[in-house]
Amino acid sequence: MQTRNSNQRKIIVEIMKDNFTHPTADEIYEQARAIDNHISRGTVYRNLGLLAEAGEILKISVPNGSDHYDSSLHNHYHFCCKSCSKMYDIPGDIKLETKKVSDAMAKDGFCVNAHNLIFTGLCPECNKN
Ligand SMILES: [Zn+2]
Ligand SMILES: [Zn+2]
Repeated sequence: MQTRNSNQRKIIVEIMKDNFTHPTADEIYEQARAIDNHISRGTVYRNLGLLAEAGEILKISVPNGSDHYDSSLHNHYHFCCKSCSKMYDIPGDIKLETKKVSDAMAKDGFCVNAHNLIFTGLCPECNKN
């Protein structure tokens, strides 16, 4: 028999499966509540944290905003609309050169091994208004 915890975890895994809309934890919580109204915000947040730590989903932190979650695990960049806070994937194969930056910084003793970058502006919907 399955425990309640593993069932609740399954609900979150199911919501995030093939989900490329980059929901926030609160949006995932709303969807989870629609399936199981006993699920708590804490459970949803905790499970999202565990899934992100396990590398099953991607957590995208937005400065001064809510974290978003992504099922797309390949290296890609994001665009976050300043008006509606929706997050989109940047299409195509745009690569920024971490190596160039890390080489430049290494001269001053820094060790740079990753970058975390989010483009901002207005999505097509908000840009219309
Ligand atoms: Zn927008
Ligand atoms: Zn994405």
